[in-house]
Amino acid sequence: MPLDLVTVPCLRDNYAFLIHDAQTGATAVIDVPETGPILDALRSRGWSLTDILITHHHDDHIAGVGDLRKQTGARTWGARADAHRLPDLDHALVEGDTLVVGDQRGTVIDVPGHTLGHIAFHFPDASLVFTADSLMAAGCGRLFEGSADVMWQSLTKLAALPPQTLVCSGHEYTASNIRFALSLEPDNPALISRSKRVAAAREDGRPTVPSVLSDELSTNPFLRATRPEMKAVLGMTGASDAECFAEIRRRKDRF
Ligand code: ZN
Ligand code: FE
Repeated sequence: MPLDLVTVPCLRDNYAFLIHDAQTGATAVIDVPETGPILDALRSRGWSLTDILITHHHDDHIAGVGDLRKQTGARTWGARADAHRLPDLDHALVEGDTLVVGDQRGTVIDVPGHTLGHIAFHFPDASLVFTADSLMAAGCGRLFEGSADVMWQSLTKLAALPPQTLVCSGHEYTASNIRFALSLEPDNPALISRSKRVAAAREDGRPTVPSVLSDELSTNPFLRATRPEMKAVLGMTGASDAECFAEIRRRKDRF
């Protein structure tokens, strides 16, 4: 049974997501930048919230959690490592833990780098992964708390998921990420075609999130740190994947 997925634009450029298991009626939200758009999305579908899943401690992902929990009584799940700086949790999670939304099983993947306690939620049967500010559409989160090595380990885990997985990331940053990607690989045909699709979506006001992992593998410069052609562009032929990732991240920070 697939899960219904709804992308909910919040604040200026954040995304929250709803997943709904039609079989059981269970509905979870992933991240709560603010409550209004999430409550509207629930009401318009007649869904009632059962679970709140938190990816990381930044305010633009958790600001509405307390209020939404009070209004809905939803169970709240987040990283044990960050329990001291997250809203009150009903379930404190570590890597490999399982959580259940209706009949759907999700697993927790540690993805530190943007923050140290950042986690992702993978629902293998529905081919969904919620990555927030770790792996992003055509990009990755800034390194606020972790080193480049730590983030590279995290991205490597996500890149190994099945290629048809939908990557549900936390922000609408794709167009500027693509501009950076094109500065490194102006002749990458997959990137050129994605850049056209992204431009068309933004012109129509459609989100570019979620994206498909296979598109990330062929166009996201951070995941392409393993490729000889990317290493050549960086002048780093023979360097390790992690060193190339670190250099791409440095260049993006200055872009
Ligand atoms: Zn963040
Ligand atoms: Fe964020």
